[in-house]
Amino acid sequence: MAFVVGLTGGIGSGKSAASAWFESQCIVVVDADIVAREIVQKGQPALKDIHQAFGDWVLQADGELNRRALREHIFKAPEARKVLEQITHPAIRNSIIQQLAQADSPYAILVSPLLFETNQHELTQRTLLIDASEELQILRASQRDGQNEEQIKKIIAAQMPRLRKQQIADDIVLNDGHLDHLYQHLQPMHEKYLAMALKKQS
Ligand code: ADP
Repeated sequence: MAFVVGLTGGIGSGKSAASAWFESQCIVVVDADIVAREIVQKGQPALKDIHQAFGDWVLQADGELNRRALREHIFKAPEARKVLEQITHPAIRNSIIQQLAQADSPYAILVSPLLFETNQHELTQRTLLIDASEELQILRASQRDGQNEEQIKKIIAAQMPRLRKQQIADDIVLNDGHLDHLYQHLQPMHEKYLAMALKKQS
């Protein structure tokens, strides 16, 4: 298994921007959000388990997951969230492990908004927090998604507090300037991870 760096940060902190930069340096990035969508695609075992656990209403006419209906159900019945997570979390974890094992770069990045919350950091050797103030998070996320401030605040409130993530993460890059400023701070991290990966190999 390659040396794996877990990359996290709250909504709008700049995780995707940072991931894209690492990709531009030819580092393989596994995105936990993408994996979470892949494992519930039509034909996947996790979707069959969800169908069995919740019933026919959870599928659209075309056999794909009815995300909206499931989201509304979970919102009304919190215990259903546990049932869903018992199905999806192991499937996500297994798929992440598989994809990381196939990574053919000197090290690999696992990007996840809930790296610490879902214990996905256990799959990594090092963690990097992309950090930004709540004001910047709200500004960037609202510009990107067109969501209002209240919706973004709710998402921030549901994520691990910024301070706690700062305490847990091995490395922190503050993304409070231009994108070039972010890239300049990622460069020494990249060099450090290359050296750490090399050391692990030998
Ligand atoms: P996350 O993946 O953490 O939710 P993104 O990387 O998608 O956050 O960043 C949120 C939005 O803010 C995106 O549109 C992104 O291009 C923009 N953005 C991120 N960092 C900066 C920055 N330093 N300067 C300007 N815009 C930024």
